[in-house]
Amino acid sequence: MPTLRFHAIKETFNRVPVPVNEPDRRSDIFGKNVFNETAMRQYLTKDSFKSVMDAIENGSKIERHIADHISTGMKEWAIAKGATHYTHWFQPLTGATAEKHDAFFETMENGQAIEKFGGGQLVQQEPDASSFPNGGIRNTFEARGYTAWDPTSPAFIYGTTLCIPTVFVSYTGEALDYKTPLLRALQVVDVAATAVAKYFDKNVVKVNATLGWEQEYFLVDSALALSRPDISLAGRTLLGHSSAKGQQLDDHYFGSIPARVLNFMRHLETECMLLGIPVKTRHNEVAPNQFELAPIFEETNLAVDHNSLLMDLMHKIADKHNFKVLFHEKPFANVNGSGKHNNWSLATNTGVNLLGPGSTPMKNLQFLTFFINTLKAVNEHEELIRASIASASNDHRLGANEAPPAIISAFIGSQLTEVLDELEKVTSGKLSPQEKTDLKLNVVGKIPEILLDNTDRNRTSPFAFTGNKFEFRAVGSTANCANPMTVLNAIVARQLIDFKEEVDALIKDKKMKKDDAIFNVLKEYIKDSKRIRFEGDGYGEAWEKEAKKRGLSNHKTTPQALKAKVSKKTIALFEGLGIMSKVEQEARYEIEMEDYTKRIQIEGRILGDIARNHVIPTAIQYQNVLIENVQGLKNIYGADFKKLAGEQMQLIEQISEHIAKINKGITDMINARKKANKIEDAEKSAIAYCDDVKPYFEIIRYHCDKLELLVDDEIWPLTKYRELLFTK
Ligand code: ADP
Ligand code: MG
Repeated sequence: MPTLRFHAIKETFNRVPVPVNEPDRRSDIFGKNVFNETAMRQYLTKDSFKSVMDAIENGSKIERHIADHISTGMKEWAIAKGATHYTHWFQPLTGATAEKHDAFFETMENGQAIEKFGGGQLVQQEPDASSFPNGGIRNTFEARGYTAWDPTSPAFIYGTTLCIPTVFVSYTGEALDYKTPLLRALQVVDVAATAVAKYFDKNVVKVNATLGWEQEYFLVDSALALSRPDISLAGRTLLGHSSAKGQQLDDHYFGSIPARVLNFMRHLETECMLLGIPVKTRHNEVAPNQFELAPIFEETNLAVDHNSLLMDLMHKIADKHNFKVLFHEKPFANVNGSGKHNNWSLATNTGVNLLGPGSTPMKNLQFLTFFINTLKAVNEHEELIRASIASASNDHRLGANEAPPAIISAFIGSQLTEVLDELEKVTSGKLSPQEKTDLKLNVVGKIPEILLDNTDRNRTSPFAFTGNKFEFRAVGSTANCANPMTVLNAIVARQLIDFKEEVDALIKDKKMKKDDAIFNVLKEYIKDSKRIRFEGDGYGEAWEKEAKKRGLSNHKTTPQALKAKVSKKTIALFEGLGIMSKVEQEARYEIEMEDYTKRIQIEGRILGDIARNHVIPTAIQYQNVLIENVQGLKNIYGADFKKLAGEQMQLIEQISEHIAKINKGITDMINARKKANKIEDAEKSAIAYCDDVKPYFEIIRYHCDKLELLVDDEIWPLTKYRELLFTK
């Protein structure tokens, strides 16, 4: 019986690009399925429209009777577009998005039926939420969580369902999702940044954090993906020998996009347009069958929702093109993994990018203020930043010589390094008129509007300044951006609040001029945050040593890294800013630790199963062929057979050795799991899985991969790397 592998390969022979319908102009369909300003103007009364806009722009509350009007307008719009159902769309701590559809349809007493959608249904819903992770906040038997409308992210139609972005909170008010703390962090960074921006321009009344993510992913033919239990269940290969050709020739990166893939992308982008996701860039990535997609940046809450929606959409569209999309950070050994760079900045309501250098000394002082405060914040909270991107799957990537290391540092380029070096020399206290003029002309004034270092990207840096924004490059491709964005915006908010206090104190107590005070504080910050700046090769061993000397953390595994989430410092930070209570933070910590344990546990089971039930039986089968051959040679040639059967006999022995090592590895791994499973404490259990269970993966894999090279290709049951990576 030929294996599933060959059935799958055969299926791929007949693949042709699936045709797609693209509009002539993308701008014609952009946002057509979004209840955006245009749709609202058409379907809402003036009062309702104003009320929603006010909620979006100023965070004001929407009155209940107005919500009734809004829901009616929304329903009419949705029905006109073919929607039959509505759902509260939210992002529980599973990492995926969640939805439970209800029909608009309702029966009346007279036996007739109507379509109904009231304000109450728009504003709040109570999904039976007992199966979402809550870290012990909400007793599961109570199942008392509710979703509440987030008017700042517009409703949209997906298929035939009206989706209403919502937060997910417990009845006692604790956040059970990613969005709630993110919204709180965005609110505090708005207030803090606005206050500082007012030093430079009184007209600033609001600052939005902006996010432009870049999503990397792999596409594997769906038949091939399904033929592998590890890809199907864990989203990555747990074994498989490298293909003779991998990415050595650099012939995939930015190469021409394969036809089937291009059609998938065109289809996906068309759907993105309808949903108002402003996708712009697509290209091949470094590894074979690896690709990237990036949108135009947006306000962070919306960008996060769009990324979550996109990931969901990608699975669905990939299916239609006979692909499986892999978001895992490391689906294949020995070729590059996938990340999700988070490009981040702050923008004022007056249209100024606060991390963009300007054309005047004053604008540049503003730029430097936000730039240096960000560096200081990152320096202060490097461990928390590392924690914000920790996951079992991202552990494969950080520090694996293709992605930034597990050490957080910031790259700023040579031009800005020079500027900061000069600023550091500013005299303490009041500046002489001469010094100030000099500074303005020769230091601050010399920052060009476009920084040359823009292009001089240090790809090894986890947090790089790229001319007009920071690029947080260590984020994993499976991550929900809300997690790192909550942390980044919170620490910058904290920093800006402290900065303003210090500057105001100098102005008031020391009677300093505003500029003098700003220069004085920035100068100290430059000194304080020097250790976070690193311009060299982040992949090198030298940096690990240097970073250690500087006292920077280097947590290579998730259980180690996550601890910073419940440190005294972090708890005080989030409590102080009103972003998360201690209870909420501890709950999240527990959920993430449990998630880690479960993922390693699942992978361990899959690996044990594949190795014992697929690899070993196949190896024995092949060994039997060899034994028969040797036996036959012996029958014919008698004592001389050894000359002829030397190679075969060696193979027989090698196979036995590998089988023995695999067997031992699996038995030891299972014993380690049993021990770890007895541990009740989430943190200790995760550590046991990390330190005692996971190390067996490599051992088992090594011997399975060796067998793959020895055993007859015709009977090898697992689809090979070359087939997974080079079938287009
Ligand atoms: P590149 O760096 O590839 O030359 P860009 O700098 O224009 O191109 O953009 C890279 C990514 O950064 C894009 O996803 C883009 O949307 C995002 N980006 C650009 N400017 C900002 C900003 N001010 N805030 C957040 N993201 C931004
Ligand atoms: Mg990038």
